Amino acid sequence: MRLIRVALDVPIERLFDYRCDDRTANIGSRVLVPFGRQKLIGIIVAKPDTSEVAEAKLKRAISVLDADPLLGRADLGLLQFAAEYYVHPLGAVTMTTIPAALRRVRKREDPSAAYTLTSAGIAANIETLSARARAQRHLLALMQQQSVIERTALSRLGAATRKALQTFIAQGWIQPAAGPRPIASSAPAQGASPALNAEQNTAVSVITASLGKYQTLLLWGVTGSGKTEVYLHTIAAALARDSQVLLLVPEIALTPQLESVVIARFPGVTVSTLHSGLADGERAARWQAARSGHARIVLGTRLSVFTPLPDLGLIIVDEEHDTSFKQGDGFRYSARDLAVVRARHAGVPVVLGSATPALETWRNAVDRRYQLLKLPQRINAIPPLISCVDLRHERTTEGLSARLITAIGARIDRGEQSMVFINRRGYAPVLICGSCGWLSDCKRCSAKRVVHLRDRRLRCHHCGHDSAIPAACPDCGDADLAPVGQGTQRIEAALTRQFPQARILRVDRDTTRNKDAWQDMRSRIHERSVDILVGTQILAKGHDFPHLNLVGVVNADGMLYSNDFRAAERLYALLTQVAGRAGRGTEQGEVLVQTEFADHPLYTALRDQDFEGYARSQLAERRQAGFPPYVHQALLRAEARSVDTALEFLARAARCARRIKPAVTVYDPVSAGMMRKAGRERAHLLVQSAARTELRAFLNAWRPQLAEATSTSARWSLDVDPSEV
Ligand code: ADP
Ligand code: ZN
Ligand code: ZN
Repeated sequence: MRLIRVALDVPIERLFDYRCDDRTANIGSRVLVPFGRQKLIGIIVAKPDTSEVAEAKLKRAISVLDADPLLGRADLGLLQFAAEYYVHPLGAVTMTTIPAALRRVRKREDPSAAYTLTSAGIAANIETLSARARAQRHLLALMQQQSVIERTALSRLGAATRKALQTFIAQGWIQPAAGPRPIASSAPAQGASPALNAEQNTAVSVITASLGKYQTLLLWGVTGSGKTEVYLHTIAAALARDSQVLLLVPEIALTPQLESVVIARFPGVTVSTLHSGLADGERAARWQAARSGHARIVLGTRLSVFTPLPDLGLIIVDEEHDTSFKQGDGFRYSARDLAVVRARHAGVPVVLGSATPALETWRNAVDRRYQLLKLPQRINAIPPLISCVDLRHERTTEGLSARLITAIGARIDRGEQSMVFINRRGYAPVLICGSCGWLSDCKRCSAKRVVHLRDRRLRCHHCGHDSAIPAACPDCGDADLAPVGQGTQRIEAALTRQFPQARILRVDRDTTRNKDAWQDMRSRIHERSVDILVGTQILAKGHDFPHLNLVGVVNADGMLYSNDFRAAERLYALLTQVAGRAGRGTEQGEVLVQTEFADHPLYTALRDQDFEGYARSQLAERRQAGFPPYVHQALLRAEARSVDTALEFLARAARCARRIKPAVTVYDPVSAGMMRKAGRERAHLLVQSAARTELRAFLNAWRPQLAEATSTSARWSLDVDPSEV
């Protein structure tokens, strides 16, 4: 009797054994199996000699679906590592990495229902089109940004656009997208590469010299220092060695720009772009192109770190500090960290690029585990001038300081654009004394305690310590206690009142949920039909708007004093990135940060653009306080209809944890105190250890007990290396 062990995407946390007499059944191939009353597709992960299941009970697999395995040994090795490291079931881990269309038993939709630019279309210059041909200009701009567009998306754009499409097809600029990305056959004009400066040259030669062996390199370059150019040169070197390259980017919104740059630079090379915005069939086709070795460059978001690449020779992680590399639910992996693991397994270099590296990464560079490469200068532009608007001395009108209002007005008069940046991240407010600066620190663990208005308590989200909100400052007795950094909801309305003539555009998650809408906004910004951009995080990232010269930041303080010990690190990165949006053209950019705490060291470092000094002081604080990267953490998250149910589950889990008696610290369960959508309440329990191996061993012992201790009414998940609490 032959056996196969199969990974299936089912809630039961185990692998499943089947009989399978098919001699072509290979590890890594898909197989169709009976499961209860259904038929499911799974991946063969082993061919064991024996099974724990009695022979009579073993079912027979229906059919093996791939003659060639979909996943190779290296791919399965990475999945196995990830399953163990993130203590998540191998079946679920494996199946989340396989494109949906390859997991589905039904026949799927037509993958060719999309259009793409031909190489002539990629090279076409929008300025050669008549100014009145608005639909044509719009369509070309759209497609040069996103390169593949679904037929359904096009039909929503209206009759003029459909007509423009037909015109472009007739003149050979657009073609139906069949299968993976088109291969550009001739070198388009914008593919020319500038001569590298000395620092870029050094970076390229160091990275190129490490091709063929494992090495993590940190490319630390200020915004606009030409990191992309370094990537492109090292990609060229890897391609010349017949290697495939994996280029990971944080945001789906940023992939189209980089994609067109990469395609233009490597004509004749197949590029597979992978992100969650693709139709299932298209995604599967591109994934297959990567797996078969046909695509030589894979450009993708988080999940593409698992893409099978038989000739992998180089991994690049752009904006490596970005939190979107961490999956926020279910299988909570970090694509950045797994990229490093994958590079090590494969014996290839990995380049982590950032202007503000994560402190974990920075520490590895300081300790020489990673090789540090610096690009300290902006190319063709002077660094922006960053200053603080000290709100202790300046009056505000509806949240806007006179200085910011004047500055925006001046830019409008000069026909330039401004951006007002609103930080919307849900950092829980910390209490501060307006008279002596006392903060609601936790006496037990040095984290900051959070104001829970609903039950009028101060609570530590780290260790669980909790007490009533004091009526007066415990240090100076003043009653002037208030949560830090609130009150910004109405900024957009306030701007409208201040500048009734200005064209104001709001850009946030809601307005950009539709990808076409975002492309449309980008075109409007480029065409200068916008004066003031009001936006959230999404505007901070990598966009290049040449007429944007002023950035105002209106509510940074909330992140300055936060319960989350990573908030300051994020704020520094965020403000650096936001500042990087100003003055990408010929003008020097101007950045105004409104704050109540103008003397705070973070703002001083930001004004001096001294990441190194800031990172040094942050790491010293982390070491002192016993926070990562000096300890390793895992968070057990639970949610339920009532917070008590969640807390009860966590209390049981904590008892189990303490019985295991590991070298880990088990804190108390904490309620997050914020209602979630669908009326579920969240709570969590933190465990941490100075030694990663201890933590891993503990988690692997703990998890099976959690699975048993689960009540039906609480949902839970484990988050290893949580990126926020
Ligand atoms: P980063 O990714 O570091 O923020 P970019 O890669 O976007 O910076 O580079 C900023 C700009 O400088 C881009 O427009 C790029 O084309 C240009 N650039 C990069 N390297 C050079 C160079 N050596 N000479 C001239 N221009 C360059
Ligand atoms: Zn006080
Ligand atoms: Zn505490």
